[in-house]
Amino acid sequence: ESLDKGLEKTKKSFLSKLTRTVVGKSRVDAEVLDNLEEVLISSDVGVETTLKIIDRIEAKVAKDKYVSTEELNGILKAEIANLLEENNSSSVDGIVIPEVENTPYVIMVVGVNGVGKTTTIGKLAHQFKSMGKKVVLGASDTFRAAAVDQLIIWADRVGVPIVQQGMNADPASVAFDTLQSAKAQNADVVIIDTAGRLHNKVNLMNELSKIKNVMDKIVPGAPHEVLLVLDGSTGQNAFEQAKQFSLATDINALAITKLDGTAKGGVVIGISDQMKIPVKYIGVGEGMNDLQLFDKVEFVDSLFN
Ligand code: GDP
Repeated sequence: ESLDKGLEKTKKSFLSKLTRTVVGKSRVDAEVLDNLEEVLISSDVGVETTLKIIDRIEAKVAKDKYVSTEELNGILKAEIANLLEENNSSSVDGIVIPEVENTPYVIMVVGVNGVGKTTTIGKLAHQFKSMGKKVVLGASDTFRAAAVDQLIIWADRVGVPIVQQGMNADPASVAFDTLQSAKAQNADVVIIDTAGRLHNKVNLMNELSKIKNVMDKIVPGAPHEVLLVLDGSTGQNAFEQAKQFSLATDINALAITKLDGTAKGGVVIGISDQMKIPVKYIGVGEGMNDLQLFDKVEFVDSLFN
């Protein structure tokens, strides 16, 4: 239900455009397919993924000869579910902390400024804490004073400890302290914020690999999760950031934020398809509870109902 609300804008715009593509048509023909292509692209599904979906529907129409416009929704829904399925096969049963050989479970969070990185860390900390887990935050985004301050505010709000050395401190040194402290406290999960300065990719790459190396020394295998946060309302920029970050470091999970404020939630489908990285979380509001584990079935249902 909160997903429906979070996706309200995308849903409304998607469904109304979809309806307009088939008005006055009894069957799916070339014109309907052209219009459908426009609907998908304008929902920010992305060109490549859109063409993939259109190709598949075209093949189906060619095979079955007569496909009614009523059947189109069902076929489209199945194709989108398929795309999401291919890249997100893990079953979803609430936010869980995976078992790892060496604890704590360490999440390194990356992303450019303004995408909702700090907020996502705060929301995650809140959810883990609500599950009774011991959480420690680390402020390795030392490039901006505001980043450290914001994370301290979130740590206070949620009521979890934070390790920080202020602005301009060495990010790897903060990560080192954070993991030491978390280990000493027997923490379950550590969430480390990092600076996302994409304009200097070599620096970014070096900084992230330095942080990773330090972590691995204290907790072998860490970071267990490298979570890239993307702003879902920025469409093609989000695609571009996903590409750039995956060149700079190995990303194994995505969080797509601000879906509540946009009609372009189709970006989730395109990014998941193009990046071959599972969308793990979606942000659907500014509050502590407005982060959801991404469930492909729910997502597709919500889009079409
Ligand atoms: P950071 O610079 O990446 O750390 O970004 P912040 O976490 O400070 O977030 C930037 C702005 O986006 C803040 O005003 C947040 O409240 C807002 N924000 C973050 N996530 C969401 C979301 O899922 N939905 C909405 N509506 N706003 C969000």
